[in-house]
Amino acid sequence: MKIMPNRMDYGYLKYQKEFEEKALSVLRSGWYVLGKEVQTFEERFASYTGAGYCVGLASGLDALWIAVRLLGIGPGDEVLVQGNTYIASVMGITINGATPVFVEPDAYYQIDADKIEEKITDRTKAVMVVHLYGHVADMDKITRICQKHHLKLIEDCAQSHGALYKGQMTGTFGDVGCFSFYPSKNLGAFGDAGAIVTGSPDLAGDARVFRNYGSEKRYYNKVVGANSRLDELQAGLLNVRLTHMQEITDERRQLAERYSRGLHQKNLILPAQRPDTDSVWHQYVVRTKRRSELTAWLDSKGIGTLIHYPIPPHLSQAYRDLGYVKGDLPITENYADTVLSLPFYTGMTEAELEVTIDCINSFI
Ligand SMILES: *Cc1c(COP(=O)(O)O)cnc(C)c1O
Repeated sequence: MKIMPNRMDYGYLKYQKEFEEKALSVLRSGWYVLGKEVQTFEERFASYTGAGYCVGLASGLDALWIAVRLLGIGPGDEVLVQGNTYIASVMGITINGATPVFVEPDAYYQIDADKIEEKITDRTKAVMVVHLYGHVADMDKITRICQKHHLKLIEDCAQSHGALYKGQMTGTFGDVGCFSFYPSKNLGAFGDAGAIVTGSPDLAGDARVFRNYGSEKRYYNKVVGANSRLDELQAGLLNVRLTHMQEITDERRQLAERYSRGLHQKNLILPAQRPDTDSVWHQYVVRTKRRSELTAWLDSKGIGTLIHYPIPPHLSQAYRDLGYVKGDLPITENYADTVLSLPFYTGMTEAELEVTIDCINSFI
């Protein structure tokens, strides 16, 4: 049996009829950008998260950099962000000319709240929390630190749609929550899409203007903006998927539980959830010092795995100008060298799960 690390077709086939009907209805509507599907999605996603406002954008990266920009963060400013993130979080900062300052992660792969304050300087303007792998950062501590030091709080929720901290949804703790709906995310579109959520009507209004060339009224431009509009087709398909979000999340939680119960492999460190949080399990990530041997073993059995992420942003070629060297962030670097994402997706079959677990358990 061949098992891929991710399958996006299964998630489509599960609701195929609904997706296809929606796509046809948008195609036939004659209206393709910023219409009623986008408006409906924004209202529904705002209410789903409990945020107040949602503004649809063209991608998760756009959500990040536009949020940073609209919070007034730019050259000379520092933003604290965890070292072990997808590089888009960091680009959301540096596109604006601001400087990322990396904080080491905790045992749950989230920014270590106890290591934030030591990195604050008089240039620090914000903390960007990334709820990596669908797990949740220590939001009580982080919101307290942000209030105490008058820092903005940005949440990168590209992997955490629906994840909860003490019953409250990620994305709603700070100034702005940034979401990606890239096809492989828990709430995925069929192309690029993103959004911000916020409790601030002013920030939401600014984002609405910014995403559309800085204009509120056609051909009257208030600011130099961008073209970062969520299109009707993606919004319509997201409306379909959002209807099933509880089912999608429940399934991921069951898959994670099955992995955690079934895996008996002394070479692996299994993922755990922080107390008082409900992960949405964007990935099922284990750690092992024998990663290359294990991946080779699984590969020989037809089982694909992924590494999220092999090169941490501070050591990426793209950021060599920041001047970091190997050894600067030992925990981050250790995670990059040892993490492994097991096959994990909506529609994963019983057989696929069993075979994967058996193969891992039989690795010596
Ligand atoms: C996917 C992702 C992004 C970027 O989203 P895009 O829609 O691909 O631009 C940002 N941050 C994290 C943590 C992600 O996983």
